[in-house]
Parts: sequence; structure tokens; C-alpha cells
Amino acid sequence: MRDSQRQKCYDWEWEVKRLTEDRAPFHNVDYKALREYMYKVTWQGDLGKTPALTIKRAGSTWSHAGWDGIRLAPSHMNLYILTHELAHCIVARWFGRGRVQAHGREFVGIAMHLYERNLGISRELMLDCARQGNLDFANLRLRKKDMEDAVARWRRGR
Ligand SMILES: [Zn+2]
Repeated sequence: MRDSQRQKCYDWEWEVKRLTEDRAPFHNVDYKALREYMYKVTWQGDLGKTPALTIKRAGSTWSHAGWDGIRLAPSHMNLYILTHELAHCIVARWFGRGRVQAHGREFVGIAMHLYERNLGISRELMLDCARQGNLDFANLRLRKKDMEDAVARWRRGR
């Protein structure tokens, strides 16, 4: 079940990428551009501080967000994948690391919010793709109050 949601999440992101006309978020950029983007988006209050960013060795093929920050594979140096990893950082901050599914409904809701706000990807397009892919998602916007309410609801419901 967990793997199925993860695969649906990856499939959703792939489909959103395929259908987005502005290709800029998917093109690889240099380290400086990634850092500038991180400073810009994390100072809007979602995280309170900017996580560290490390680029993995040549040949690494996967990226992840951990306690020490975000580690990107060299082939993943674009704003779309970086935003995916930032969504993991925000989920960990708001819900507690390991307390919700890594690519679960909270993660998808936060990623969707970040893709819309920071990359200009259409929410309608993302919602359509999520529904067509039967992806479980929370329809969130990251205003602080909304997020506090979302976390409170989640805590009450568990
Ligand atoms: Zn992920």
C-alpha cells in the first residue's frame, strides 16, 4: 500500500511535468541558482531556516532529504526535484519525521502547494492529474494558520 502511494506520487509528478508548458523548472541549473531558490522559498515561513544542500558524487542516481539537509544527485539539479525534497523537509517539520507516510497525502498536498506558489505550475492541472492517477492527497495551502489547522486535525484523527 505504501509503495503503491509512492509510485502513484512519482507517476503524478511525471505526468505534471509532461503537461507543464513552461519547461524552466525541469532544466538543470547550477548550485548557486539552487541555493538562491532555497533561500527565497524557505524564508517565506514554511521552514524558518534554509536546509543545507549537498550534491552527491557523480553517478549517484537518487536524491533525498534527511536530518542533515537535502542531498541531490548531479542529474537532479533542477528546481522541480529540489522542491520535492523541500516538501519532505516541510512535512518533517510540521508533522514530525516518520509520523506520516513519506509520499502520503500530506506530502502531496504540500508539494502541490510549493509547485504552484514557487514554480507557477497550474493547480488545476495538478489536481486533474492527481484525480486521474487516483492519488491520495490533502488539498492544502501553506498559510501558517491552514497548516496549523491541518496538523491539529491530523493529531485529533490519529
Ligand atoms: Zn520523495
